Amino acid sequence: MINHSLVVLNSLSGKKEPFEPLTPGYVGMYVCGPTVYSNVHLGNCRTFISFDLIYRYLKHLGYKVRYVRNITDAGHLENDEDSGEDRIAKKARIEKIEPMEVVQFYTVDFHQILEKFNTLPPGIEPTATGHIIEQIELIKNILDQGLAYEVNGSVYFDVLKYNETYHYGKLSGRKIEELIHNTRTLDGQSDKKNPQDFALWKKAETQHIMRWPSPWSDGFPGWHLECTAMSTKYLGESFDIHGGGMDLKFPHHECEIAQAEAVNKKPPVKYWLHANMLTLNGKKMAKSTGNNILPMDIFTGNNDKFSKPYSPQVVRFFMLQAHYTSILDISQDALDASEKGYHRMIEAVNNLSKHKVFDSSGDFDTDQWIKKCYAAMDDDFNSPLLIAQLFEAVKFINLVIHKAHPISEHQWEMLNKMLPIFIHDVLGIEPEKKSNTATEDKLNQTVALLIELRNKARENKDFQTSDQIRDQLKKYGVQLKDGKEGTSFTLD
Ligand code: AMP
Ligand code: ZN
Repeated sequence: MINHSLVVLNSLSGKKEPFEPLTPGYVGMYVCGPTVYSNVHLGNCRTFISFDLIYRYLKHLGYKVRYVRNITDAGHLENDEDSGEDRIAKKARIEKIEPMEVVQFYTVDFHQILEKFNTLPPGIEPTATGHIIEQIELIKNILDQGLAYEVNGSVYFDVLKYNETYHYGKLSGRKIEELIHNTRTLDGQSDKKNPQDFALWKKAETQHIMRWPSPWSDGFPGWHLECTAMSTKYLGESFDIHGGGMDLKFPHHECEIAQAEAVNKKPPVKYWLHANMLTLNGKKMAKSTGNNILPMDIFTGNNDKFSKPYSPQVVRFFMLQAHYTSILDISQDALDASEKGYHRMIEAVNNLSKHKVFDSSGDFDTDQWIKKCYAAMDDDFNSPLLIAQLFEAVKFINLVIHKAHPISEHQWEMLNKMLPIFIHDVLGIEPEKKSNTATEDKLNQTVALLIELRNKARENKDFQTSDQIRDQLKKYGVQLKDGKEGTSFTLD
């Protein structure tokens, strides 16, 4: 199976390149995970769904994939800068709870949401706080190379020094001269030699509660360092794929390259893949601006952006209808169209599996169709093109089912085998599960109707019926309670 001519858009070269892993048959993939200080918004989910598609397809091709996605539970300061409060510590202070309670709560939330979207869990999900020792070792090593310096208990990476031997800016295409020109001059508050330097270790202020001992001070690691420590620990000094959202290219990924090259003297990553942003009203979805929507609010319909709820499967399908490197704007119209398309597709696959009436061959070349489906995915995981091909098959199936169009046994077998593979295994799209909320809604509506009928019976002095409704419901474990506000019910 692996014998596919997969090409991927490598952000490092800006070009599509043939995908040839460092060790044939094996893929090491690292994806930057969430900072667990708040609920993941739908934009975050798009990036994780994009890499889930990539993971699924690589596995489908037969690669043995080691997928590492971290949890950032320390070191990520406000505004992605080297100063200010730690995002998690800030939340803990506001909520008056332990930082690790914040971390636990939002990690569980993150897992629950991604499970609803049917994403596969990574093989390893390491945390920054679980790798403080590794991060301290990296800092010692970078200091030994003369590429970092210590000031007042903090350690900074020396970007200009590094750039004498290596190339800082090669991923983001930024030139060091422009960086120097564009960065604010230091205001005397900072210990940095140059504004473009970044923190490897920060000395903790007295009030900073998330702190660890180190040779330099009681403090905490810089945000970029954790990903270098965890990716190289689990995937080696050089590995195949590093992913994350486009917004992480600079400075986060640029700094990761610098740290890893300083220590190992070779590029850490062969293919840098970047997922593009989900936008709302044309603007990037982001926690900080309030321009975002939470997945649960879409699933329940409890939001002021859309007039109805959409299931996780529909939202996932909507996301996969755009290429992962394109910007995608979410809107009610787009979601409605995806919902229709999703149901049309699932229904056609269902209908086909039950239809076992064979005839001469209908005019649909299944072998050619399978090739086109693979060609779409081999072209940098082009899910919208794959979905367009799936709809070609849906069109044919609908002719067979509704217009008695001929279908041969071979055509039926190929479609019946390959459609679930592309839809479920590769795209990760499943039929909708009837959620508990949907069942609860039905129970509430049914009991409300019975209460109304009982009230009518009482108004008509038909006490036999009204008592029958009450007593029968009681037998089923539904207890009616009459009060000033009307009748309510409890379940045994
Ligand atoms: P964070 O928790 O802020 O570190 O973000 C987790 C992931 O979500 C990162 O890979 C970000 O690049 C990604 N991300 C943030 N906002 C969006 C967005 N609007 N669309 C797609 N991905 C996003
Ligand atoms: Zn990262």
